Amino acid sequence: MLKLFRRRKGLSCDQVLEVLQSYLDGEIDAGTANKVAAHLDECTDCDLEAGVYDRIRTSLAARVEPVDAGVMSSLESFGARLAAGDIPDSDPDET
Ligand SMILES: [Zn+2]
Repeated sequence: MLKLFRRRKGLSCDQVLEVLQSYLDGEIDAGTANKVAAHLDECTDCDLEAGVYDRIRTSLAARVEPVDAGVMSSLESFGARLAAGDIPDSDPDET
């Protein structure tokens, strides 16, 4: 037990990491959230950890709608016309 390192009041790093995900999801009570926020304020390690979680959450959320379906289908039909040589004003072989 390294009690020497418990110089901070409030939550310990272990306690913060335990509730970090719930904290970021807004699923803990305001009192605990305040303590976590205060800890993140003065603890670089936990703050970094919170940033990583937050980035993962954000990128997962961003992946819900990857590409607009309309854009994809017009790209596909354009690609198909190119492959079939069906592009107007681009046939120099007519002499
Ligand atoms: Zn910490």
